[in-house]
Amino acid sequence: MLVSAKEMLQKAKAGHYAVGQFNINNLEWTKAILLTAQENNSPVILGVSEGAGKYMTGFKTVVGMVKGMLEELNITVPVAIHLDHGSYEGCMKCIEAGFSSIMFDGSHYPIEENVAKTKELVAICAEKGMSLEAEVGSIGGEEDGVVGRGECADPNECKAIADLGVDMLAAGIGNIHGKYPANWEGLSFETLDAIQQLTGDMPLVLHGGTGIPEDMIKKAIDLGVAKINVNTECQLSFAAATREYIEAGKDLQGKGFDPRKLLAPGFEAIKATVKEKMELFGSVNKA
Ligand SMILES: [Zn+2]
Repeated sequence: MLVSAKEMLQKAKAGHYAVGQFNINNLEWTKAILLTAQENNSPVILGVSEGAGKYMTGFKTVVGMVKGMLEELNITVPVAIHLDHGSYEGCMKCIEAGFSSIMFDGSHYPIEENVAKTKELVAICAEKGMSLEAEVGSIGGEEDGVVGRGECADPNECKAIADLGVDMLAAGIGNIHGKYPANWEGLSFETLDAIQQLTGDMPLVLHGGTGIPEDMIKKAIDLGVAKINVNTECQLSFAAATREYIEAGKDLQGKGFDPRKLLAPGFEAIKATVKEKMELFGSVNKA
């Protein structure tokens, strides 16, 4: 069932669990995540970056594929199609294409411009019944070079953006995208606590969920995180399973070269990773 992320995240925040956002790249990814959500009776958010959207030939293709699967696979759990780290232009394209949720990443704009553009998107999303995620304080990553600690957002700026009427708020709390460096100092729970105290029942979003220790994930959920983004971890498990299949020479046995066989171990690996995360986040049986 295609829905916005608003209600599922409000329920998650009130119920002290988090909904996973799992980024999709192709048919296998999408099918694996949707089936796992249904099997575990869990709400789920399909994340689509602008790059992945382009790879899949465009946002309309993504919406068509997801809607088709929801029907053909009889997916009844709540599912949101969400633009991840959208530019202003990307947000407009996804609104047009029929996404149910978008993230506007205005963190690189001066706060005044971030506020102005966010306000405009709040109005459009309210009219279309879509949910909107905003970001305060940029969340670093590998592309920014090696960092020991991701940026921490200013809690007052978080409050200002939350008050604009967004449905979920991503704030930098020392988290980063991709694999964490060995000298990473961990999440700043002090920052998270300060943000949560100012923003009340606003669902908070934790980006860069790959490689954060389980105890930190649980503490972040206790402190108001209701959505956790997972991307790299599914890529790593897919790649490892595919490598194992090829290294075992299975593509050379019988019809092992058939893409439906070749991609099957990676597909199962994504399913296992997603299930593990849903259990950790506490979203199983919360659909
Ligand atoms: Zn992110």
